Amino acid sequence: MKDVAIIGLGCAGYTAAVYTARYKLDTVIVGEVEGGMGMNAADVGNWPGEIEIKGPDLMQKYKDHALSFDNVELVSGRVEKVEEGFKLTMQNGDVIEAKAVIFATGSNKRHLGVPGEEEFSGKGVSYCATCDAFFYRDKTVAVLGGGDSAIEGAAITAQVAKTVYLIHRRGEFRAEPYWIDKLNERDNVEFVLNTNVVEILGDQKVTGVKLDTPWKDSDTIELDGVFIEVGSIPAVDIAVQMGCELDDRGHVKVDAALNTTVKGVFAAGDVSGGSNHFAQFATAAGEGAVAANSAFHYLQSGK
Ligand code: NAP
Repeated sequence: MKDVAIIGLGCAGYTAAVYTARYKLDTVIVGEVEGGMGMNAADVGNWPGEIEIKGPDLMQKYKDHALSFDNVELVSGRVEKVEEGFKLTMQNGDVIEAKAVIFATGSNKRHLGVPGEEEFSGKGVSYCATCDAFFYRDKTVAVLGGGDSAIEGAAITAQVAKTVYLIHRRGEFRAEPYWIDKLNERDNVEFVLNTNVVEILGDQKVTGVKLDTPWKDSDTIELDGVFIEVGSIPAVDIAVQMGCELDDRGHVKVDAALNTTVKGVFAAGDVSGGSNHFAQFATAAGEGAVAANSAFHYLQSGK
């Protein structure tokens, strides 16, 4: 029986493991996707102490730090369910038992839900501009969305692509001004604003998109690829299945100590409703620390 099981191999999970390790708790950190969303970050410029670092490099540092402790074990694989007690059942049938659980399961990319999207997924439709931009050297692509992921993704893609269409449903961006400035520096970006994509067009692979509002007298744009960067959905499934309540924005409901509504279960990072729903490396790390601290006090109290 472990003291703590941390589910999720992202910033929140690894940070929680560093803290539980130093609290001398016997810790298992378990997950399917090493690095989580952090792997998609091209240039991280807001992690204190690193003026600029690649997301995968930062994730490797978190992992190395967490695994530098003898009392932290990493188990790769998908957790299928968590039962009171606590008993984690893995996809391969293995069972992990722990006295406390920290959900740090992150989030998954939101899909647009338009015709052609699923059909051409992997055939020109991608959910990570910063990961796949390299494949579109001298090509014409669209990036959809107006948040940090879309604007950062468009700025990175514009470094290699011939033309980037930034298509956003509103006339304003919610992204950091830093990334908006970076995008505005490029002269190969066309802004298609106040416009929705209603269909992904293709024949074997993506050939374009259909718009709900004509742009330059046409309701279609010819493209080689489409990056859908319209946000993410917290990965709450196993937390919900074990009885954790959600908040009004669909994240795991937590209090200031990151207790969920199930005793002995904590949530940190993108999956939780903490930090005013501000999903950043810095807030995920902070929540990982708080959740670990709360787990420590919970175990010390002997409840
Ligand atoms: P986000 O901030 O939630 O933005 C999603 C964008 O997609 C919004 O502009 C939204 O439009 C649009 N959108 C949502 N649903 C849509 C739909 N059905 N059709 C068309 N457009 C839709 O998501 P994100 O950009 O992925 O960022 C997620 C979190 O990661 C944020 O906290 C962000 O700050 C963080 N992040 C940070 C960085 C960084 O460098 N600091 C980089 C990447 C991500 P509206 O604006 O109209 O709502």
